[in-house]
Amino acid sequence: MPGKPSVDVAIYVPSNFDPSFDKVSVSRMLEGLRIAKEIYRPAGLQVNLLSVKTGAVDPKFLSIQANEIPRVPDTEYINSYESSKRHPAELTEMALRAFQSMVEVDDNSPNTIYLLAFQDVVFPFLEISEGRNWTVKMVRTGGLSFPSYSYVDTIPRPYRGVITISNLSTPSRLSRTIAHEIGHKVMNVSHEYKDTNPAHEVYAEGGLMLYGDGADIPSGEEGRWHLERLLMSPYVYRLSPDGTKQWNRDYLESGHYYDPIYEEKVVKFPGATIMNPNW
Ligand SMILES: [Zn+2]
Repeated sequence: MPGKPSVDVAIYVPSNFDPSFDKVSVSRMLEGLRIAKEIYRPAGLQVNLLSVKTGAVDPKFLSIQANEIPRVPDTEYINSYESSKRHPAELTEMALRAFQSMVEVDDNSPNTIYLLAFQDVVFPFLEISEGRNWTVKMVRTGGLSFPSYSYVDTIPRPYRGVITISNLSTPSRLSRTIAHEIGHKVMNVSHEYKDTNPAHEVYAEGGLMLYGDGADIPSGEEGRWHLERLLMSPYVYRLSPDGTKQWNRDYLESGHYYDPIYEEKVVKFPGATIMNPNW
């Protein structure tokens, strides 16, 4: 529809999943996207399905490691967004090769959301174990958005819109995962809502960007500018009357959380750690 803020989504589902894998299918991807359209409608955002493609992929790419093991853990001196700007998550070569084998690149690729289905996408992270020690953990993801606030400039531009989907097999995953992961990408925020600062996994009701059943996209400073950031996203365009896509302006600093395109639509908050301050 002319003038309406829109995002384009392309879906790719491998046709050669192992026979015992049944957590993602073309029909589940379409149903998850249909629910996402409903979730974003009150925000005034039109979610436009560009294409659905299937085909055989190299079996070694059915299961991938998303990012390299982080080298520097977050501490309390700066917040998690500032830490990610200094030390962005690094896409693995394996993940990049997998994306390259599936996505057909065109001029609009840097502004397109790609939902790619995988059997397994594992995500390594650092967690405080005891005292002043961290341990490396790996989590099996149901969906992973490779957000710019985290990966900044470590994903080649044509692939920066990739979101991986690996589990839509429960009602809550089917109804929320795709919308939530699109939220990480287009709002460019982590797990946060109103008074809740970002954290790795926050289970609470209310916002689309928390783990829970909520789907709220709040606005204003008290809403951490989620709606405003969504509508400012470089993934958003408006159709002009002649049918051309007028994209929002692109990130000025590769899309870290405080990228200048957001102007004052950012939240400043202190760093935090659960480590004993008397370590
Ligand atoms: Zn999330």
